[in-house]
Amino acid sequence: MGNSISKVMVKMFGYREMKILMLGLDNAGKTTILYKLKLNKIKTSAPTVGFNVETVSFRNVKFNMWDVGGQDRLRPLWRHYFPATTALIFVVDSHDIKRLNEAKEELYSIISDKEMEDVVLLVLANKQDLKDAMSPHEISEYLDFKQHLKNQLWCVIGSNALTGQGLVEGLSWITNNTKSNNKKKTS
Ligand code: GDP
Ligand code: MG
Repeated sequence: MGNSISKVMVKMFGYREMKILMLGLDNAGKTTILYKLKLNKIKTSAPTVGFNVETVSFRNVKFNMWDVGGQDRLRPLWRHYFPATTALIFVVDSHDIKRLNEAKEELYSIISDKEMEDVVLLVLANKQDLKDAMSPHEISEYLDFKQHLKNQLWCVIGSNALTGQGLVEGLSWITNNTKSNNKKKTS
């Protein structure tokens, strides 16, 4: 029954489901974002060891969101989560300017992976509420996407995970920039 209803919804409303992978250095705000989207509240969390996965429904899309721990010893595990990803949300702490280069290196290493070449890339320039945070535009310049990402769809949006500012805008951008039944190429 449930299954046939969801089939009808896909036909009538283009209801769809996609896997979103959320990565970024530890302390960027990934887990806060996930639970703000899921429960609309802040869940204080210990640093993520392993991963959190939650389903977030937004408009006609069911997002299966994977939040994978960002500490450096966990980063070699990231690639195991790459297959079947439609969109990557890379979260940056816009206030932690000292670690921005580290974030940039990790991001380029992710998107240079063959499994990730077709994903749409949303960078959340998080913690915009903090004084002296870099603006989304400054982060975008720093990441140098215009120069390096010729074939990938990307966007940098400012966010504040504590209030939720920017998060709906981010999900809307993903929804608008992914096709129905977006399947990864197999060759
Ligand atoms: P993760 O390691 O990427 O999962 O980061 P967390 O979600 O655990 O967040 C790390 C810390 O940053 C926590 O103390 C959060 O409350 C805080 N934080 C997350 N997002 C924001 C934000 O937009 N603004 C501010 N001021 N703090 C934030
Ligand atoms: Mg976490």
